[in-house]
Amino acid sequence: MPHRHAIILLVLIVIGVLAGVMAGWIWGPAMLKVAWLGDLFLTTLKMLIVPLIIAAVISGVASLGDVRKLGRIGGATLLYYFTTTGIAVFIGLVMVNIIQPGAGLEFGSSEIPQEVLAKGDTSVSDILLSLVTPNLIAAAADTQLLPLIIFSILFSAALTTIGKRGTHVIEFFNGVNDAMMKLVIWLMYFAPIGIFALVAGRLGKAGGGEQFLAEIMAVGWHVLTVLSGLAIHFIVLLLILYFVAGRGLDYLVGMLRALFTAFGTASSSATLPLTMECVRENKVDDRAVRFVLPLGSTVNMDGTALYEAAAVMFIAQAYGIDLTIGQQVVVFITATLAAIGAAGIPEAGLVTMIIVLNAVGLPLEGIGLLLAVDWFLDRFRTSVNVWGDSVGAAVIDRLLRKNNGGVDH
Ligand code: ASP
Repeated sequence: MPHRHAIILLVLIVIGVLAGVMAGWIWGPAMLKVAWLGDLFLTTLKMLIVPLIIAAVISGVASLGDVRKLGRIGGATLLYYFTTTGIAVFIGLVMVNIIQPGAGLEFGSSEIPQEVLAKGDTSVSDILLSLVTPNLIAAAADTQLLPLIIFSILFSAALTTIGKRGTHVIEFFNGVNDAMMKLVIWLMYFAPIGIFALVAGRLGKAGGGEQFLAEIMAVGWHVLTVLSGLAIHFIVLLLILYFVAGRGLDYLVGMLRALFTAFGTASSSATLPLTMECVRENKVDDRAVRFVLPLGSTVNMDGTALYEAAAVMFIAQAYGIDLTIGQQVVVFITATLAAIGAAGIPEAGLVTMIIVLNAVGLPLEGIGLLLAVDWFLDRFRTSVNVWGDSVGAAVIDRLLRKNNGGVDH
């Protein structure tokens, strides 16, 4: 069971979320006045990400020992990511075929949103290219985490091959990692207020409860499809946690602080520091925490994948276009890739959805249909993204323990 202070903090965070919903709902735009408190929390989290990721990945990979072990653990991690993301997309497609949220929907002509227009020609090769960067410093400055992670993995693998001099450098990064985790623990105490302000401020921006409700109602079936799909996938992950990782409900309770933070921030990257701390408190092997979670926070996005598949099918239905099974297979594959390519930042999924729409020849204007409610659904899918990473850490933890001949929980 999590420590007492963790439970108290969790209760305060839940109160923060509920109070945020209520305040934003009732007072609407007036809540924009407190939004800066949310920005303060979010920006401080973001401030930690780059040093944390670099130190965590370098010390995590180095602690795996030799490079062959990295290969095995890396392979298992990728297998977990792909399997669970595939399951998520499948659930999204099934739900959308059952509920048919776009059927008979009347909508006016909508415009292509600016951020989408700028990236209109995004394709699958862009995802592969995003693994590397010509300039590490620029990538860090833009919080493009994937190239930083790839570099850190390679750098750390190299360190393990150069003997004693490598050990000194690894020791340095171990220290950086521990210090960063201390900062995370301190920042966690600000989470209840930060999350309150983030939620209240965002609802305020949406014009308060009534206006928000009207927007949800306009695409109510779509919202219902996505939320029920996400709920089913959440449970699937819970089953994986139980049967594959051998963990129980207390693991979920221990993760709730991170899941609510994901809900508040709509960013898996910003949530990463808390995810790491909660998983660590859940007694997951440090090697799994440092390796699986940073990579997962940018690559493994089950919620986003499910959302993209469901949203694209919704757009097709709304335009009265019937997608064949073959085309749905294309949606399946591209939604998986698009989720991998999405950054762990708010509403990134909306932009990478272009890949899926292009692949089946649907009009990009369709994204306009989803704009009004995207910020809302984003919060739920981000929580599922973080939940997927957390379960992944538990699965890899079990694998590491088995390999070591250690005792299970
Ligand atoms: N906001 C999501 C995340 O950070 C990405 C997305 O689906 O837009 O995980």
